[in-house]
Amino acid sequence: MPLTIAIDGPVGAGKSTISDEVANRLGILHLDTGAMYRAVGLAATGAGIDPADEKAVSALCEKGGAQVDIRYENGKQITLLNGEDVSSRIRTQEAGGAASAVSRYPAVRTMLVRRQQEMAQEQPMLLDGRDIGTVVLPHATVKIYLTASPEARARRRMDQLREKGDQTPFEEILKEVNARDYQDMNRALTPLRQAEDAILLDSSDLNFEETVSAILALVEEKYGH
Ligand code: C5P
Repeated sequence: MPLTIAIDGPVGAGKSTISDEVANRLGILHLDTGAMYRAVGLAATGAGIDPADEKAVSALCEKGGAQVDIRYENGKQITLLNGEDVSSRIRTQEAGGAASAVSRYPAVRTMLVRRQQEMAQEQPMLLDGRDIGTVVLPHATVKIYLTASPEARARRRMDQLREKGDQTPFEEILKEVNARDYQDMNRALTPLRQAEDAILLDSSDLNFEETVSAILALVEEKYGH
């Protein structure tokens, strides 16, 4: 099996940007699995379906109305929904909420987990998400559970949103972070949790470079890269 790195953790822990940088330095591809759930959320809302309606969302997936494909352009992930590039459209608070809702359904998880496993079999890869170390790649070479306090995560989220001109107040973002944690950790199907053999990395007091270095050191230790 090629090198596989699993990075799981709650919303706003910096998984996506940290993962991008780690993968880049190792010269391997990074699969942001959250983007795939976001695309399915977008498929639902785009089809006029309430993401809370499990039956309708599952039916949409079963009839092929939520085809998620991933392409790489110069190492950068492009997320396609039914053939259309939705990489930017999935980056809204609303799409995140829809993703969290549809990710509770077996029809959605089965479809996406299978695709993720296929991709990780084809090439060395770093995958980030919620269930990579527990479900998608239980035999991953390195498993990391990346977290930070809710306040630290909300602050980072706020900085990201500000960069895009989004002025959502801090309190609202913190509420959203806590609500998403609750939903992700308490859903019936594969709730977010640290795999027993995953290494816990709390980045509350680490900056970007320190977090990247810590992960690279763990990879080096396990894989000798
Ligand atoms: O990481 P991101 O915020 O983009 O993920 C959006 C949502 O997709 C999460 O809140 C979570 O509910 C869901 N998700 C998941 N399993 C993954 C990745 C994301 O359930 N592997």
